[in-house]
Amino acid sequence: KVRVRFAPSPTGPLHIGGVRTALFNYLFAKKNGGDFILRIEDTDQNRYVEGAEKYIVDALNWCGLSFDEGPTSATLSESQKKGSFGPYRQSERKHLYKKYADELIEKGMAYYAFDTADSLNTHRKEHEENGKTFIYNWHNRLKLDNSLALSKEETQAKLDAGEAYVIRFKTPENETLILQDVIRGTITIDTNVLDDKVLFKSDGMPTYHLANIVDDHLMEISHVIRGEEWLPSLALHQQLYDAFGWTAPTFAHLPLIMKPVGKGKLSKRDGEKLGFPVFPLSWNESIGYKEEGYFPEAVVNFLALLGWNPGTEQEIFSLEELVNEFSLERVNKSGARFDPDKTKWYNQNYLQEANNQKLAQLFQPIVAAQGIESKAEYLEKVVSLIKERAVFVKDFWNLSDYFFAAPTSYPEKATKKQWKEGTPDIMKELLAVLNPIQDFSSNNVETIVKQWITDKELSFGKVMPPLRLVIVGDMKGPHIFDILEMIGKEESISRIEKAIQ
Ligand code: GLU
Repeated sequence: KVRVRFAPSPTGPLHIGGVRTALFNYLFAKKNGGDFILRIEDTDQNRYVEGAEKYIVDALNWCGLSFDEGPTSATLSESQKKGSFGPYRQSERKHLYKKYADELIEKGMAYYAFDTADSLNTHRKEHEENGKTFIYNWHNRLKLDNSLALSKEETQAKLDAGEAYVIRFKTPENETLILQDVIRGTITIDTNVLDDKVLFKSDGMPTYHLANIVDDHLMEISHVIRGEEWLPSLALHQQLYDAFGWTAPTFAHLPLIMKPVGKGKLSKRDGEKLGFPVFPLSWNESIGYKEEGYFPEAVVNFLALLGWNPGTEQEIFSLEELVNEFSLERVNKSGARFDPDKTKWYNQNYLQEANNQKLAQLFQPIVAAQGIESKAEYLEKVVSLIKERAVFVKDFWNLSDYFFAAPTSYPEKATKKQWKEGTPDIMKELLAVLNPIQDFSSNNVETIVKQWITDKELSFGKVMPPLRLVIVGDMKGPHIFDILEMIGKEESISRIEKAIQ
């Protein structure tokens, strides 16, 4: 059975790369009738950030990526609490890992090392001075303070004395590893370039590497889908599976997300420059996609196309469609360039497609914040008239303020251009035309006003632009007669009168 996991470390906000990893895992699971699991990798207590787990869960829920198994907490719904492979927080699985480290020691595939930070630094420096990088492996390990140079008894004595230690994986010498990745194909690695990575620390905590593969094994994970930044760990992970005699899951490393311009991977700082680095986040000042006003559907859609392609020209996909279409074979090898304009384009698209009732509901609090009470029906009509020009719901107010209140000023440039000497007289005449109109519907008013213009042999250019200016307070907005109908006869007349006073 397909079982995949999203395994974030609760060290802070999720950035878009993390959410994309979650999304691809979700799509792959759902496409294959499998399970999507959330596992919290919190073994590194130094980097633990309070609230990060809740934030991750909220972000996934906001995107609609519901998981089948995950940590139990007050933030989870009943259906999210099920699953028999728990606990799903590594800090609650602490007791599980030591025996696996011990097993490798017994097999001679791992060893205790007692190096102090100081001695490691000295070795590192010496290497650097000779223009070499320090690799903690077969070449160096005997020169270091590790137990390979010690007898079993000596090692035990150090442990009994409470000396700080780590358990390291004993990377074999002169071997070529052949690794498989669904996206990258076959990768060969010379073991002589690999470090003896730390698996377990004397604080009783496993490192990421050990906990990660033990849990993937115990949780019967079938596919590991994660970011390319973890590709360098693949060699160790494969060796660990082999060392335990376990079948490794299938690996798929997703391409990096690249900066909008120039070289390199998208960093948090780029995100900040773009104005929306991360997902919804309340504990610092950063603005996330949610706060920026994105629809979750738009975010899911653009993330899906960062690294995956459907093989057609189609760009708009619902989550359901993505599930149907998704395959790891269509994930690209090369980095996916992040395009902030395209992300906006997606939101604009979803905004145009959204129904006006929903948009009016989202707009309502914005209008209320201006101290204006407005009926749902009115808001819906406003939205239908102006949404074409909006990317986000938060754009609505600037596009529609004149539907709610008379302009308080007129921009100088437009006034100079549109407000001529004869304009007040024309506006006066227009008032006389509007005053007797009973049916103030857009069509009717338009017919009558146009008739008057024609009869009087006035030009449209002398009437319509100044009319827009006094009604809207600017040269923007939809069809002017639609606006007149919306604000009504009384308000229309009052705005014109005010302008010619
Ligand atoms: N805890 C790792 C992370 O923060 C998980 C990497 C993996 O999926 O193996 O991304």
